[in-house]
Amino acid sequence: MTSTARPFLNRRLAEFGTTIFAEMSALAVRTGAINLGQGFPDTDGPEEIREAAVRALRDGRGNQYPPGPGVPELRAAVAAHQQRRYGLSYDPDTEVLVTAGATEAIAAALLGLLEPGDEVVALEPYYDSYAACIAMAGGRRVPVTLRPHEGAFRLDLDELRDAVTDRTRLLLLNTPHNPTGTVLTREELAAIAELAVERDLLVVTDEVYEHLVFDDAEHVPIATFPGMRERTVTIGSAGKTFSFTGWKVGWVTAAPALVTAVRSAKQYLTYVASGPFQYAVAEALALPETYFTAFRDDMRAKRDLLAAGLTEAGFGVHRPAGTYFITTDIRPLGFGDGFAFCRALPERAGVVAIPNAVFYDHREAGAPFVRFAFCKRTAVLEEAVRRLKALAG
Ligand SMILES: *Cc1c(COP(=O)(O)O)cnc(C)c1O
Repeated sequence: MTSTARPFLNRRLAEFGTTIFAEMSALAVRTGAINLGQGFPDTDGPEEIREAAVRALRDGRGNQYPPGPGVPELRAAVAAHQQRRYGLSYDPDTEVLVTAGATEAIAAALLGLLEPGDEVVALEPYYDSYAACIAMAGGRRVPVTLRPHEGAFRLDLDELRDAVTDRTRLLLLNTPHNPTGTVLTREELAAIAELAVERDLLVVTDEVYEHLVFDDAEHVPIATFPGMRERTVTIGSAGKTFSFTGWKVGWVTAAPALVTAVRSAKQYLTYVASGPFQYAVAEALALPETYFTAFRDDMRAKRDLLAAGLTEAGFGVHRPAGTYFITTDIRPLGFGDGFAFCRALPERAGVVAIPNAVFYDHREAGAPFVRFAFCKRTAVLEEAVRRLKALAG
């Protein structure tokens, strides 16, 4: 048999195909629809941070390979941020690792920590890179489904406990949670932490929306709970917090042995990335509290605008406590299949959204849900809302 007689894409990745974002963004371009599919802001972050990147580039800082673990300025800024906000102490030299966005941090953590056959329990729906990275690492994913309950998607702690077996190595968490907007409560996190300690599990926690929590919700890193610091890999990123998603600067904070494991994989993925941007992000993390508060308030206002518009258009709205996204239920509009709905929406209403089913292994559980991003300019959201109201008529 020649090597071309078998499929080129290997079995580990065959099920993943092209991401839905490519298809939907192409559809947006073709139809001129407003793209509320992919979660990136349509305005750049703070001018002074952009200038800090320009300065670094001009001054020749980061134009050549930066240090493997990240530039010292950024590692120190990450450690100071975790200390100031959460009272978590990390040594910038041994307990902080800079990555090419949270995406690489997730990949490197799973590649560095999993043995083939290890089970990973993850909250479903999940960010689309999780399933692919677990597969690349040879792990087995075990979804625990967040289910709608009183207007929000909630975790069933008994279901989580039942999902853990003797083969479970790791819990993969995401709070604030994309796409549902759920923020795990202190009580839920305490219960998850107890389970992790009792079953001796590692926890990898994706906290890229840590600064985007609204109303009474509170972001609590699971690493702050008893027995968790030594078993938790916490992942952060500048992209969402500072509206520079193209810079791809992320980081890991964890105990030294865990950082070493993640770095062992990371050094053979990108080795290093985003040199000059690392210096700029170090400055961004040190911005005064007023930046973070204003950013959050602005996003909350956008959430409110889009949530009200979607409600008026006839969607069932799950009001998010955090993130960039609103998950809606299309059944009140008389539809049941999010894929078909999203493929038709650009022609029908001039708006692009993402079918949540792509974030599920249990596709049927996600079928009636559709995700809209509100990290867009107010005028864009207003126009989207105006268009969507045509659905109600
Ligand atoms: C956007 C996003 C990421 C990726 O972050 P980058 O820093 O851009 O790689 C990871 N996890 C979640 C939940 C996200 O929404």
